[in-house]
Amino acid sequence: MAIQLHDTLRGRKLPFEPLVEGEVTMYLCGPTVYNYAHIGNARPAVVFDLLARLLRRSYKLTFARNITDVDDKINAAAIATGKSIDEITARYIKAYNDDMGALGVLPPDIEPRATRHIDEMIAMIGTLVTKGFAYEAEGHVLFDVSSNSDYGALSKRDLREMIAGARVEVAPYKRSPQDFVLWKPSTPEMPGWDSPWGRGRPGWHIECSAMAKKHLGQTIDIHSGGLDLVFPHHENELAQSTCVHDGAPFARYWLHNGFLSLDSTKMSKSLGNVLLVHDMVKKIPGELIRLALLSAHYRQPLDWSDSALEGARNMLDRLYGSIRGIELSDAERSSADPPADVIEALEDDLNSPRAMAKLFDHARTLNKSTDDEERKKLAAEILAAGDLLGILQMDAEAWFSGSEDGELSAEEIEVLLEQRVEARVNRDFAAADSIRDKLATAGISIEDSPTGARWRRSG
Ligand code: AMP
Ligand code: ZN
Repeated sequence: MAIQLHDTLRGRKLPFEPLVEGEVTMYLCGPTVYNYAHIGNARPAVVFDLLARLLRRSYKLTFARNITDVDDKINAAAIATGKSIDEITARYIKAYNDDMGALGVLPPDIEPRATRHIDEMIAMIGTLVTKGFAYEAEGHVLFDVSSNSDYGALSKRDLREMIAGARVEVAPYKRSPQDFVLWKPSTPEMPGWDSPWGRGRPGWHIECSAMAKKHLGQTIDIHSGGLDLVFPHHENELAQSTCVHDGAPFARYWLHNGFLSLDSTKMSKSLGNVLLVHDMVKKIPGELIRLALLSAHYRQPLDWSDSALEGARNMLDRLYGSIRGIELSDAERSSADPPADVIEALEDDLNSPRAMAKLFDHARTLNKSTDDEERKKLAAEILAAGDLLGILQMDAEAWFSGSEDGELSAEEIEVLLEQRVEARVNRDFAAADSIRDKLATAGISIEDSPTGARWRRSG
């Protein structure tokens, strides 16, 4: 069966056919690097990493995930912290790659940085002006949305309704409230580059259009990102790129992941409910977080909670439990393919929950089997599926020694005790008790004292 993918523009699932047979180009809008990535930001990185792994089985894939390293939020972070822009972007690019790496996200083939593509952006903006799709006003260059009759097709918005319903205060230099910035002037203390329209910096949308074109060509196969990017970011990228290219398609398939909420609430810094991957990976195995992110279909909303993590832990316990103690030679391990029904589920618009259900069927068969050869074959296939999904990368014994079965290290005990204190502060006594029980199972008794909890090994 060919891979099926849901395309946001056409609004349905379609057989995937790349422009050039046997080759695929894919672009993912990457992070704006001014702070650590939260668990919601990790969702597109993980789900599209899984898609990249799947595509690489059948195609020669070129996957670009950009870095937005010029943005007003970065400028604001530099002013707020007194650090240079370069210091901030370098720090958060490294943190992003380390944190996503801990979740098993493989590096993309190309990681273009916006600041390294200013010439390409200026050239693209120049073409849009020459062709009559953009205009200059007070040092800004704006895209004229009325020049593009397809504007709104991706996000299914009607331009006239948008204009009628515009509540934003319209900048005086805009001909229409929906016109968006391609280039804007910079004051001397802000980052800026010389251009035909004076010293300035690019708008966010043109960055991706220019980087996608430079590295992947004028028509790309797959453009991906989170649902919130459909409008305005992707709508605007689509308008710019098709107008520059005289109507040639920009992306053949648009893929968008659903949003992640935290205990049924939108994650927001002002509410203080933001989970940073950087903190989480210090306490929780990366592949457990990854599997929890893949436990819902990528287009569905995903509510993140302790029970989502517990669910993923149980799944990994079951899978590691099934393969535990089965010795495989390198040849047995490397020659195995993932089970066909796991691949089929993933090829059906990346149905990761169904792929996991299929994997459990195989684990159950393995558990029941008494035939050593069959057990080995199934274990090798389960591990091959793990390689594709980016899980089961640990030794089974190491997995269990990090959780219930083995002895906990002092560091792990301290982390659990910290989590227990946190749970009590939040009056989540069920969670606090379950941590105490977990410690007790591992032979650790705790005594609460006015200065905090003390622990000792009782067994
Ligand atoms: P940003 O750095 O805000 O541009 O976000 C980077 C990526 O994370 C984009 O693809 C967003 O769509 C995605 N994203 C941000 N918040 C969430 C969320 N809560 N759930 C899922 N994806 C998100
Ligand atoms: Zn983008």
